[in-house]
Amino acid sequence: QFPFGRRLPCDIYWHGVSFHDNDIFSGQVNKFPGMTEMVRKITLSRAVRTMQDLFPLEYNFYPRSWILPEEFPLFVAEVRMMKDSDPSWKPTFIVKPDGGCQGDGIYLIKDPSDIRLTGSIQSRPAVVQEYICKPLLVDKLKFDIRLYVLLKSLEPLEIYIAKDGLSRFCTEPYQEPTLKNLHQVFMHLTNYSLNIHSGNFIHSDNVNTGSKRTFSSILCRLSSRGADVKKLWSDIISLVIKTIIALTPELKVYYQSDIPAGKPGPTCFQILGFDILLMKNLKPMLLEVNANPSMRIEREQELSPGVFENVPSPVDEEVKVAVIRDTLRLVDPQKKKRKDKNPERQHIESCKKEVNIRYNYLICYRCQTLEHVSEASEALLDTGPADRRECDAARSPEAGLPSLCLKQVFPKYAKQFNYLRLVDRVAALFIRFLGVKGTTKLGPTGFRTFIRNCKLSNSSFSMASVDILYIDITRRWNSMGIEHKESGMCLQAFVEAFFCLAQKKYKSLPLHEQVASLIDFCEYHLAVLDEKRLVCGRG
Ligand code: ADP
Repeated sequence: QFPFGRRLPCDIYWHGVSFHDNDIFSGQVNKFPGMTEMVRKITLSRAVRTMQDLFPLEYNFYPRSWILPEEFPLFVAEVRMMKDSDPSWKPTFIVKPDGGCQGDGIYLIKDPSDIRLTGSIQSRPAVVQEYICKPLLVDKLKFDIRLYVLLKSLEPLEIYIAKDGLSRFCTEPYQEPTLKNLHQVFMHLTNYSLNIHSGNFIHSDNVNTGSKRTFSSILCRLSSRGADVKKLWSDIISLVIKTIIALTPELKVYYQSDIPAGKPGPTCFQILGFDILLMKNLKPMLLEVNANPSMRIEREQELSPGVFENVPSPVDEEVKVAVIRDTLRLVDPQKKKRKDKNPERQHIESCKKEVNIRYNYLICYRCQTLEHVSEASEALLDTGPADRRECDAARSPEAGLPSLCLKQVFPKYAKQFNYLRLVDRVAALFIRFLGVKGTTKLGPTGFRTFIRNCKLSNSSFSMASVDILYIDITRRWNSMGIEHKESGMCLQAFVEAFFCLAQKKYKSLPLHEQVASLIDFCEYHLAVLDEKRLVCGRG
C-alpha cells in the first residue's frame, strides 16, 4: 500500500475510492474518471431517461423516476394524469436522496403530497421512483441481487459479468405496501447495512441459507420450481449491457478530459456493483449501480457488548474473491504477451472449458437440478465440448486456478445492442467540438462551429436562432444545481439540443430515427470536410 503515492511505475493501480486518488500516468487504474458522478442516483436516472426517450421498450427495466426538486411539479401532474386514466391504479413511490447509500434517508409514500418538501429536499436533491410492489419472494421475504460487472475498457467497449452474485434478504415477511407498513424498513428495504440490525438477521454459514446467499443458490431454487432460468440470465445480461450503454457517452467525456488522446495513459477498468430486483414474473429491474461495491469478505461479530472481532463470511468469500482474482487475470498485462507467444493457447482454452463443464455439473449436483441450471450456466459460460484427455493445464501459468468467473458479454453480444449506441455517437460529435483539451463543456463558438461544419444552418434556421438555442438550453442545465466548475454546455444539454435539431429536420419519424438520421447527416458532412482538409494539407 502506498497512501502517499509511489514513485516507481506499476502495471496495475488499485485505488480505494476514485480515479483521482493519485496522479497516475501509465499502467492501468481500477477506476474510471467520472464513474462516481455517473452512478449517483440523479445522474443515472437522467442517463437512463435519455435512453428511455429514444428506446422506451428496451429501457423498461428501470422504474419510472422523477428528479427532485426540479421535477416535482411534473411528478404531481403525471401521477394525477395516470390516476385519472386508471382509477384502480394505487401506486407507491420510493424517495431516495441523491448520493445516498445503504438505505440512508429512503422512505416510501403513497401520494406526491407526502414528499417531505421541507428545507432538506431543497438542499438535498433526490429521486422519486415508482415502487415495485410485487417483487419475487423467497421464503416469503423480499431480496435483491448484487451482481459484479467488470467494465474492462470503454473504447472499445468490453464488459464482463460475474457468473455468481449475492442475494440480500429482508428480515420481515413481505407485504404489499399499505399506509400501515410503509415505514417497516426490514420488510421493504433489502440493504444489508439495515437488516443486519434486525433481530431476525441470520448470518449464513453456507451459501444456500440465511439473510445473505449466493445468487446461484436462488437460481437453483427457481429452477427446481420450473422457472426459465436461462431467460432470466439473458434478461440480466441485457439489462447490464443497456445500462452501461446509457453511461458510456458521459464517461467518454470525462475520460478525454482526464486522459486526453495522445497522453501515454493510464488506461482504466472498474468493477461495478449492479443492484437488481426481480419482479414476481421474474423480470429483472435495475435499482442502482455502485461504483465502489464493498469487497469485504469478513463481517463483524460481537463477542461481548461493545467488543467486536472480524470473522470470515463464507458467502462473501465465495463470490468476491473470484471477482477480484479474475479481474486481475483479465487485466494482467503479461497475459496478452503470453497469449501472443504461446502456440498452445487454444489447447489450454479448451481445457478451461472442460473444467467449466465439470464445475456446472458440480453446482447442479449439489442442488439436484441438473438439467435446468446446467443449461442456464452453459449459456452464461458459453462452454463447449472438449477432449479431457488432451488437457495438460500445467502448461499454462494459470494452471491450478479455477475457471474464470467473469464472462464476456460485450463485444460478444455487440451485434444485438449496437443499434442502441446513438448517444455515444452524439457524444463523439460533442467531444470533437470541445476544442481545448481537458474540458467537459462546449462554448458558444464550439457549438456554432458544430452547426456550421455539419451544415445544419439554413434560411429557416439562422445562426441567430442557433445562438438562442445554445443560450436557452445551456442556461437551463446550468441552473439545475449541477456543478458549476466550468461554464458552457454540458453533454446532456448538447444531447437535448441535438434532439431538438433532429426533431426539426426530420419531423414525422420516431425520435430514435430522427436522431439516427441527424447523426448520419453530421458524420457525412464531417467526413467530407476531413477529406477536403486532407487533400488541402497534401496540396
Ligand atoms: P441505497 O443506495 O441507499 O441502497 P437503493 O436504490 O439501492 O439505495 O435502494 C435501497 C433499497 O430499497 C433497495 O435495496 C431495495 O430493496 C429498495 N428499493 C429501491 N428502489 C426500489 C423500487 N423502485 N422498488 C422497490 N424497492 C426498491
